[in-house]
Amino acid sequence: MPEPRPPSVDTLARSLAGTGLPHAVLVEVAREAIAAGDHGSAPSRAEAAGRALLQPVVNATGVLLHTNLGRAPVAVVSPGTRYSNLEIDLGDGRRGSRQDRTGPLLARACGAERALVVNNCAAAVVLVLAALARDREVVVSRGELVEIGGGFRIPEVLAQSGARLVEVGTTNRTRLGDYAGAVQAPAADVGLVLKVHASNYRITGFTEDVGVAALAGLGPPVVADIGSGLLDAATPWLSGGPPPWLGDEPAARQTLAAGADLVTFSGDKLLGGPQAGVIAGRADLVTACASHPLARALRPGALVLAALQDVALAYLRRDGTAIGFWRMATLSVASLEARARSLGAGRTVPCASVPGGGTLPGVEIPSAGVALDGDHTAALRARTPPVVARVVEDVTVCDLRTVDPADDDELARALAELSTAPA
Ligand SMILES: *Cc1c(COP(=O)(O)O)cnc(C)c1O
Repeated sequence: MPEPRPPSVDTLARSLAGTGLPHAVLVEVAREAIAAGDHGSAPSRAEAAGRALLQPVVNATGVLLHTNLGRAPVAVVSPGTRYSNLEIDLGDGRRGSRQDRTGPLLARACGAERALVVNNCAAAVVLVLAALARDREVVVSRGELVEIGGGFRIPEVLAQSGARLVEVGTTNRTRLGDYAGAVQAPAADVGLVLKVHASNYRITGFTEDVGVAALAGLGPPVVADIGSGLLDAATPWLSGGPPPWLGDEPAARQTLAAGADLVTFSGDKLLGGPQAGVIAGRADLVTACASHPLARALRPGALVLAALQDVALAYLRRDGTAIGFWRMATLSVASLEARARSLGAGRTVPCASVPGGGTLPGVEIPSAGVALDGDHTAALRARTPPVVARVVEDVTVCDLRTVDPADDDELARALAELSTAPA
């Protein structure tokens, strides 16, 4: 019997219309299936193409700021398409600035004169260096020449922005005299002193470093790149005060009060909001950043500003329960145990959540979850909505701290599917 002729690309693509994907995408899928000599694989290829799109997932890893899951929990799908007053002044109808809303709210929340929002904290550091220290020296301790991840290395970023790095001190010990020597050197041309938070590693033992207050007396502006930490060390948005696992993370408000001229921090890591970066502090310095040509290239869009505005308002209302990260981070172990038991599958087990996102290395937050023998992570990821869980010594653990309680029923269904599936 002759081989049946394979369907045409167009016919095959049309047969996949039920997936809801645009025809152009389905044509690509059909072409690939036919090129692979396996047109029968087209439906599963189309399904894979659909699953590869950005979509909500259930985070059962217990990693609060999971970089692969978008760090902080924020709205993934916008509720509708609407215009916004992004750059109009509704008072006089003239053009306004997108920086006139969220920036002032964040400035108020951390006690800064002015704040500017950019794409992420990496962009904030690049902009500060380019605007304030181009062709000039930037003094940094050798203990703070950090790599954040994704290739963001302070010495390289400094070089890219046209500033000249002046390293002082040693890896484990840097004293005020080391900074003063660089600032007062005969031909010195110091644009700023940069202090970088060692957010993703710890140097312990025979160590010494210099605080912002001491650096502020040296003369040049002091910029503290905080990255992750707190908006305010007193955590007024948490009714119970700072949780014990926080340790002594730097805080934007206290760093500015101690004499930093500018702070830079992350919208997701520090605020628990969308990916964004904030430059806050002295009005003249923030204005110099805002009017630098790079500011336009690094500015955020309306979706990010709207999400960040919600977070800023929650901080100002002192309502940590309205910020997903803080709501989840402060849930009691007892409440998590109760939810784990009510899922009706697996064993309820104690486990440990972590802040994640390259912050607070070594810190664990006591938690509770559900454990099932064997590695079920691939099956959990393959369903809709996908569930991302952890495997510890061939046991699958779903940590409830990072699961939105609204997803508990969905998680219960996912676990029930596993226990009935043939092994
Ligand atoms: C994370 C971090 C950055 C980069 O922040 P992104 O928002 O991820 O770009 C910069 N500096 C420090 C100290 C950080 O911890």
